[in-house]
Amino acid sequence: MEDKSTKNKINGAIISSRLAFVEKRWGSSAKQKLINQLPTKEKKLLDSPVFENSWFEFATLETLDKTILDDLAKGDPTILHELGRFSAEFNFWRLPDSVIQQKPEELFKNTSRINVIFQNFGEVEIETLPDKGNIKQVALIYRYQMDVSENYCASALGYFEKLLEQLGFSVTDVKETACQSKGDSVHRYEVSWIAQQLAEKVITKEESYKSFKGTKELTFPNTISGSFTGNSTTSKTTKPEISYNTIKVAQALDREESKFNWRIPILISLIFLSSLIWVVQWLFFSKVEVSTSTEKIQNYNCVGNLAVTIKVDKPYILINSKEELTGLVTSFEDKGKKYFLKVKTLPSNTLVELSLGEFLTNDNKAVEAELIPDVISLIAEVKGQKQNCVCKNAGGN
Ligand SMILES: [Zn+2]
Repeated sequence: MEDKSTKNKINGAIISSRLAFVEKRWGSSAKQKLINQLPTKEKKLLDSPVFENSWFEFATLETLDKTILDDLAKGDPTILHELGRFSAEFNFWRLPDSVIQQKPEELFKNTSRINVIFQNFGEVEIETLPDKGNIKQVALIYRYQMDVSENYCASALGYFEKLLEQLGFSVTDVKETACQSKGDSVHRYEVSWIAQQLAEKVITKEESYKSFKGTKELTFPNTISGSFTGNSTTSKTTKPEISYNTIKVAQALDREESKFNWRIPILISLIFLSSLIWVVQWLFFSKVEVSTSTEKIQNYNCVGNLAVTIKVDKPYILINSKEELTGLVTSFEDKGKKYFLKVKTLPSNTLVELSLGEFLTNDNKAVEAELIPDVISLIAEVKGQKQNCVCKNAGGN
């Protein structure tokens, strides 16, 4: 097994979920403790929406998780499971609709589409296990070319458990039955759940987005006071408790719809007020976040001698080629830097997804997966002949 390579990256969305969790559980000084461990370059981005679209060394996440486990949680291993559950909640809005509209057994077949949003390493294989009565089961088999600690695995189990719960399914068991960090050849996670959906989706993407993003900078004086301990860098990202209250209010309202009581008008006004503030902030302050919440598919016009069609459905480039391509190199430029991804073989007439997060510069810098390239260049061999084409963004649909 290789050493932790600088190529193994984790998305800022996961780092951000750790900061939010720690702040919620232990307050802003604990959050500051984690922030102090971030690389200087990324620390500077904390207040920017770019932070969650940046890619971090995997080792950074491992360091944060170790601090949370050993220091803040005083060694209580159940905290790792909780971290994963929280991340599922925090990042639910990032998942493509086409993935979360599926039944769990289908959703798991798309695990690689979920992974690619959050990490740029590892291969996953899904094994469907026989039903046990009305219990469905799958095994997710991960192979990593690097050391991934048991901590990461424990949080991954929590992530999948909470993800299914949010889709209205009840998880009966989730466990790791083999782990590379314990000397096994793979990491094997087994998840069991009750086949029938027990409830409607517990949370919508919109609610998820609003609860953790939209109310990010709400400044109700009574909830902020006392929690501010850091410098100006931390104050803006302090997520007041109100952001969690907002979503709880919305859920409570759903459940109590049938028996009207006096709290409902107050709750509605609160929701209205927070939505209004959210909309205003959304319009004025976060252009980058706006782009992450719209999911337009971008079309490209290609010129050259490769018979390909290209679309971008962030964070993927979708390529379909009439002919089999070998040694395909896909590249694009952003802010003067050129990013490449090499693929050995691209089968003919098959839609293939290339994750933007896997594109790297010559010095191994990853791209922001939220970016939409203007021009994408392809070079590949077709029947032994080197061919190329250049594809230009023709806008979204
Ligand atoms: Zn493991």
